Amino acid sequence: MQDCIFCKIVRGELPSETIYTDEQVIVFMDIHPTNPGHVLIVPRDHHESTLVTPEPILAHMAIIAKRITPAVMAAVQAEGFNLGANTGKVAGQVVMHTHWHIIPRHSGDGLSPWRDLSYKEGEMQEIANRIREAL
Ligand code: 5GP
Ligand code: ZN
Repeated sequence: MQDCIFCKIVRGELPSETIYTDEQVIVFMDIHPTNPGHVLIVPRDHHESTLVTPEPILAHMAIIAKRITPAVMAAVQAEGFNLGANTGKVAGQVVMHTHWHIIPRHSGDGLSPWRDLSYKEGEMQEIANRIREAL
């Protein structure tokens, strides 16, 4: 896609600190890291999000994530990592070209992407039923 920032990186029209590339994906450093070592796994083809990316490409992204992550963690002596995809503007997606974040984690780094809500009586089962029906 002409104006997409990640397509421009894929085409070499914008610079990136690339750490891995093959015929399907490119992996490069996030320019504004959540933690140092934060990388992005990006398919070469333009798709708006994970949900509309062909399954063979997603499978390859998962394999590459598994391969890349130990090197990322070793480089910054991380104790863990978050693998995530912000999907949709409401979820924080800014670049509308599929990408997965690998964010190295250290104890005490202060990041907390989750919270612990509680369901009302029967609410969890009701939502689970709706999800099952939608499958
Ligand atoms: P999103 O919020 O869409 O899930 O994440 C987009 C990510 O892309 C952000 O973490 C942002 O820092 C990164 N990013 C945006 N523009 C560029 C760029 O030109 N180069 C690189 N390397 N990363 C970028
Ligand atoms: Zn694109």
